[in-house]
Amino acid sequence: MQIYDISVGIHPGLPVWPGDPAIELERVIEIGVDSPVNVSRLASGVHIGTHVDAPLHFLAGGGSVEHLSLEVLVGRTYVAEILTEGHLDRDALENAGIPQETRRLLFKTSNSALWRSTPDRFEPEFVAVSVDGADWLVERGIQLVGVDYLSVAPFEDGVPTHVRLLSAGIIIIEGLDLSAVEAGWYSLTCLPLKLVGSEGAPARAILVRDNV
Ligand SMILES: [Zn+2]
Repeated sequence: MQIYDISVGIHPGLPVWPGDPAIELERVIEIGVDSPVNVSRLASGVHIGTHVDAPLHFLAGGGSVEHLSLEVLVGRTYVAEILTEGHLDRDALENAGIPQETRRLLFKTSNSALWRSTPDRFEPEFVAVSVDGADWLVERGIQLVGVDYLSVAPFEDGVPTHVRLLSAGIIIIEGLDLSAVEAGWYSLTCLPLKLVGSEGAPARAILVRDNV
């Protein structure tokens, strides 16, 4: 069984969304004469690296991350590879050959290469889901959508795509690295940290090739 780790590594140099807190991960206690253990301290925003958005991120009174359905976060998933220029709009999604029965959908785009081509700075020119693309996902009954950079929505207009998806109860995974994965069917396991009351949480996400 081949397991694909589609999470990015969390470290202080990882690009974060502009204005979000920087990532701090430092050893605060070292093994030595005074201590038998190493202990590290982590401080960051919750929308770092591979992470999940809960409805509360954009909807006042929306559900927080510990209430996201594990039945949706785990299960059969289609990876669509879309290497067109520009955002993922209705036309791009219509022509991407996404199987009708798809309920969990991850987009592999040119974004996945950004984790290596610009590893130490945020790149605002990433590919995202446009508003009519979000409408298409809702109409198709998608329950979970994943993207390979830090937002599902275009940098210049982040609100409408998020609101449409979260209002429809669609779980959003952001910050995936799908470089090593080809298009097709997989089994997804995405487990966000159980941060009580939080609008988002970092997650470990893996795919296992679905041979059925
Ligand atoms: Zn987010």
